[in-house]
Amino acid sequence: MPGVRQPWIPKFVLATPAALAWPEGAAMAERAAALGTEVVRLKSDRLSGLPDQYRDAKRTFAIVTASPSRRRLQPIPPSADWRFDLAEGCPAHCSYCYLAGSLAGPPIVRAYANLPEILAELPAAVGHGRVTSASSARASEGTTFECSCYTDPLAIEHLTGHLATSIAHFGAWDADVQLRFTTKFDAVGPLLGLRHQGRTRMRFSVNAAGAERHEGGAPRMAQRLAALRAVAQAGYKVGLTVAPILRLPGWQDAYDRLFADVAAALDGVDGVDLTAELITHRFTPKSREVLAKWYPGSALEMDEAVRSRKTTKFGSVKYVFPKEEMTAMRAAIEGSLTRHLAGVRVLYWT
Ligand code: SF4
Repeated sequence: MPGVRQPWIPKFVLATPAALAWPEGAAMAERAAALGTEVVRLKSDRLSGLPDQYRDAKRTFAIVTASPSRRRLQPIPPSADWRFDLAEGCPAHCSYCYLAGSLAGPPIVRAYANLPEILAELPAAVGHGRVTSASSARASEGTTFECSCYTDPLAIEHLTGHLATSIAHFGAWDADVQLRFTTKFDAVGPLLGLRHQGRTRMRFSVNAAGAERHEGGAPRMAQRLAALRAVAQAGYKVGLTVAPILRLPGWQDAYDRLFADVAAALDGVDGVDLTAELITHRFTPKSREVLAKWYPGSALEMDEAVRSRKTTKFGSVKYVFPKEEMTAMRAAIEGSLTRHLAGVRVLYWT
């Protein structure tokens, strides 16, 4: 069983009065204190005194409440019908981190204490999404709710307990619904015995050898694959989030080996329900600027000159691989994936 890696211990913990009034908030403060971190109990519900420096910000855990606007569900194509947030921010240090372009302010981790209010928003959305709810190919998944858009929830589960609560909540929810999250972490032990009732799909973010050098603070691929095996054995629906797909030296063989390793990890597990989501690397002018500040020594290619510029329907600009390369990569990578993992369902390539 994997999980030898030490859990993240924040150096600074801040808690607002409103958050501490929730049993979930008080429990988070207790868990942080049990790890030896002093919990600063703020006088007001506004977060103050946040560190500006990347290094300290990434070691800061704030226990707060999600406001009504934060609790409002958002569509999240092509992954799921709806997005809801248990937290925002992540303690790992991936030099391509997609949060760089989407979260404002210093990269602290904010965890929401008012989980009952967050979960109470979900029932009104059942049957109303535009991804799985509207797709015949994915109809079997029901209404899907994604909770890892702005965090890696397993990275902080030892502090929040939110995944366990959410998985049990979906397990007890007798409806056509699915909880989904993606993680690069491996501490799945406390989740294995939960009554998930097949209503959670746990996806592991995986990549070819060579990508790990861009993933500081996250467990190695072998640990993630061992965790994938453990949760599949526990009857969870599982998935691969292959992201970000990079033009690594020898990428074709490297991705082929990755899928061979996944097949080996799942060998002998009965009834695996496996999906794959294939996401190529892209960046925006803003994410590139933020990442260059956070990771000045990074070797990650973010060169506009070798990319295609695309304007999204909302008018923002992103840089992706040129079309011919994208086509060649897609054919090779999907080919390897389906050759090694015959039962896999590819949900999308983007
Ligand atoms: Fe960002 Fe995910 Fe890496 Fe965390 S694990 S730093 S959210 S890319």
